[in-house]
Formats: sequence, structure tokens, C-alpha cells
Amino acid sequence: MNENRLLSQIDCLMKQIKFYFFLALITLFFAAIPSTAQPSAPPTSTETTARTLSTLEELRLDINSVPCDDKIRLQAVKSLFEKMGAPAADISIEKSKDVENIVIRKTGKVANEKIIIGAHYDKTGEGSCGAVDNWTGIVAIAHIYKALKDVQLNKTLYFVGFGKEEQGLIGSKAMAKQIKKEDRIQYCSMLNVDTLGLTVPQVLSNVSSKPMQKLAEETAQKLSIPLKIMTIINASSDSDSFVDKNIPAVSIVSLPSNWATIFHGKDDQTDKINVSEVARGYRLALAILEALDEKECGAFRK
Ligand SMILES: [Zn+2]
Repeated sequence: MNENRLLSQIDCLMKQIKFYFFLALITLFFAAIPSTAQPSAPPTSTETTARTLSTLEELRLDINSVPCDDKIRLQAVKSLFEKMGAPAADISIEKSKDVENIVIRKTGKVANEKIIIGAHYDKTGEGSCGAVDNWTGIVAIAHIYKALKDVQLNKTLYFVGFGKEEQGLIGSKAMAKQIKKEDRIQYCSMLNVDTLGLTVPQVLSNVSSKPMQKLAEETAQKLSIPLKIMTIINASSDSDSFVDKNIPAVSIVSLPSNWATIFHGKDDQTDKINVSEVARGYRLALAILEALDEKECGAFRK
């Protein structure tokens, strides 16, 4: 082997090394470039955490845990919201005169745009457990809280368990009265749930604002949930206290023709409750609330 040939072989080998080195560099270079197939754009506000609907069994469990004793009812509402994940700092019991409302706050992006979602926790009548009227409403709003608690909403929500509704809307009137006249504009709307699970969901029209009733009808249609519009002049509910102060409000109820024989007496027990109908009312109220959060604050004012 002569020197020239050896040099030529070395030269050839060097070229090969350079070639493979260059190839390795190119490969590394392209590997370092992020893939052009980017993950889909980050979800927007309300999509950040997909909400999870409660199951029939979860609703049934909390309906069947109704406290029939008046004395422990307020505490039971508090415990239920704690179970749904409400932090202690967001729960307050608001006393005014001789009534106590429990309020659970969920802060939204816009502090001065507020929505109230309420249900009365008191009951009345000899032997009544108040399971239908209105533990079903309390369970519905607590599960709505659970569905939305990790979702970033635009507006600030106040989940309220009203006291002494049966004695003349005392708790809701106290809350509505406490809102200064100049601050009413911040309260975009009020959604009230009073009795679910006896029949299909209904709007109690005589205590609801017309634009809110319309939203309930549109929302029910989108979800394919049958919704009836009822006018029962001798039936009232907590939405009326807010309509009275020009805060748009709607009551979702479930009043079959024999409602008066079940309410306010010994027949108001869990065995009267159709949990599938409670679930319909719960899903409808949740969707109405989500629609209210999306709409302009003043959209429902006359
Ligand atoms: Zn009621």
C-alpha cells in the first residue's frame, strides 16, 4: 500500500465521516423544530373545564338525605354545598331580622354583573317532610353549583337558600330589599327553583318576567325538554320578590293538577318524587343559568 493510496483512502474516509456528520446535524436540526401540527387552540373561558352533569343516582342520594326536621335544615343546606365543593370562605349565612338566608358565592370575571340562583329551604305543614317542596330545589341548585364550580364564568353567581318562603317570601324579600336601588342594575337576573320532580318542568308565569320566561322556553326547546307555562294566581314563589324590584326573574316549578294535596302536609315525602323529572329540571335550570351568563347583563330588563 503506497502512501498516496493511503492518503486517498483517508481522504475518502474523512469525506464519508463529514457526510454522515452533516446528515446527523440535519436530522438533529429538524428534530428540534416544533411540529407544525400544533395542538388545537387553548379553550376559551367557559370551556376551560368541561362541566360534568350529575347522575340520577347522585341526585337520588341527596334527595333521599332530606332533613325533615326544621331545626337542622339550614345546616343541611350548608353541608350539601360543602359536599359539592364550596369552600368555607364563599359560604355565608345572612341574617336579617328573624330570617336566615344561606349564600354561596362563585366569583366571575366581571365583578359587578351578578346572577342569583335560589331555592327556599324552609317547609311548612303538619307532618310534612318538605322533600318535594322544596328540598328538590335545594338539591338542584347544589348540583348546579357542583357542575359549574370549576368553570370560569363571566358573571358572579350567588346561590341562595332562602328562609321562610312559606311564611310570605320573607327571606327573598329581605335579600331583594337589601340591594340598594342604585345597585339593582348589577343584578342581571334571578333564577328560582321551587319544587321539581312531580311532573315536567314548568315556568310559574305569574311570578316570572316575560323575557326570562322566553329564555326558559328557548332553552328547553334546545335541550328537547318539555316545558309548560303555568299561571296559578294563588301560588307564589321567591322570584316575585325580585320581579318586584325590577330584577328580571323566573321560577321553575313542577306543579301537577293535584299539587295542593301533596304540598304543605304529610304527603310531602320522597316517595312522591320522580328523580328523572328532577334531573330534567336540574338540566334545564343549569342551561338557563349558562345562557344568562353568556347574555348581556341588561338583556332581560324591560
Ligand atoms: Zn315552595
